[in-house]
Amino acid sequence: MDVIRTPDEMQQWSDSVRSLGEKIAFVPTMGFLHEGHLTLMREGRRRAGVLVASIFVNPTQFGPAEDFACYPRDFERDCAMMEAVGVDAVFAPEPSAMYAPDSQTWVEVTGVTKGLCGPLRPGHFRGVTTVVAKLFNIVKPHIALFGEKDFQQLRAIQRMVADLNFDIEIVPVPIVREKDGLAMSSRNAYLSPDQRQQALALSLALRAARDRYHAGPCCVEELVSVAKCVLRRTPGVEIEYIEAVDAGTLERTSSLDHPILLAIAARVGKTRLIDNTVLKP
Ligand code: AMP
Repeated sequence: MDVIRTPDEMQQWSDSVRSLGEKIAFVPTMGFLHEGHLTLMREGRRRAGVLVASIFVNPTQFGPAEDFACYPRDFERDCAMMEAVGVDAVFAPEPSAMYAPDSQTWVEVTGVTKGLCGPLRPGHFRGVTTVVAKLFNIVKPHIALFGEKDFQQLRAIQRMVADLNFDIEIVPVPIVREKDGLAMSSRNAYLSPDQRQQALALSLALRAARDRYHAGPCCVEELVSVAKCVLRRTPGVEIEYIEAVDAGTLERTSSLDHPILLAIAARVGKTRLIDNTVLKP
């Protein structure tokens, strides 16, 4: 596995692979890998001859009061895991290699970033779409894989790719969960054993709403209130939002005739967790 540290080197690497007629699959990550990331990588491996992953804790997507400095990092362990799933090259730049001090350009998607996490994390999605646009220009992939765990991020990237004519296929990958239902996340490493147990409330709340959805006619408000009930009875869990939105536009909806995204953000102690499920008629 090649470890590449600069955009120039990465572009040359990808140019030479492309000149051989190979298809490049790309999985961008912030590292501290888990089975969720590896599932994206295996899917990329299956779909293309060459697999590139990136490890970059992107400073521009963290707010001033967020966890950029203490975000978990373990590059050696990540490399061993990527080797094992057959990653051909890892792009792991320093922030200074990605952002010139006089950089002035942002990529911002408007509509789908307005709700859910958007107002709670000002600047977050602008940081995400900017770094992903840069990574696309650096890695030059044919396809890129993103997890449905970060559903709003997935929609923002799909919108950006459509609006800016990136010639890249975006492949969504379903959420990978622990055996007990907790959505895998690098941030789960922050949880104490008690908090790890409390964090289960998110997936349980979604499960309860999903069960209600399939049990017979109901309305959006009822689904939200079923999920809220489960979260509220778990001590230590502080709800940021529970919302049901149109799974395509991410706009508020009261209709259950089309797919609905039920999304939760909550804090367990200081750790901010998100989870979601898509309900389809
Ligand atoms: P991150 O390192 O958290 O930025 O995540 C990198 C990619 O892995 C993103 O596309 C995430 O949506 C995806 N991802 C993270 N956790 C999971 C999970 N539990 N299941 C599926 N994809 C995930």
